[in-house]
Amino acid sequence: MADDCIFCKIAQGSIPATFIYQDDEIMAFRDINPHAPVHVLICPRQHITNVAEVTDQTEPLMGRLIKVAADIARQENVADKGFRLLTNNGPEGGQVVMHLHFHLLGGRQMKGLG
Ligand code: AMP
Repeated sequence: MADDCIFCKIAQGSIPATFIYQDDEIMAFRDINPHAPVHVLICPRQHITNVAEVTDQTEPLMGRLIKVAADIARQENVADKGFRLLTNNGPEGGQVVMHLHFHLLGGRQMKGLG
């Protein structure tokens, strides 16, 4: 738990979210400001700031996050048509919430990066 981290507060239950998956390590909930018909955030419950902070200890958790994302893509019916899975890293990478999360975006044609 990091002080003043909104996603840690969601993990604790002190801020509500529309959860679509939870286990003891991972949570997935709908983005409050969706950029696509399907926009889900998939993140660890523990506070890891971003990909730059991944360690040998948390490496297996990264694989689990991607597996959960694939399961959610199927559940949300975007796996066959295609979807985007991305994570922003640090201020210049466009990261606003400093708690590692993957965006799963689908249900519309994605365009270029940038
Ligand atoms: P990023 O720019 O990668 O850090 O993305 C942060 C994302 O978190 C944005 O898409 C926000 O809309 C989303 N977000 C912020 N607060 C909440 C919240 N309370 N519940 C759900 N999504 C949120």
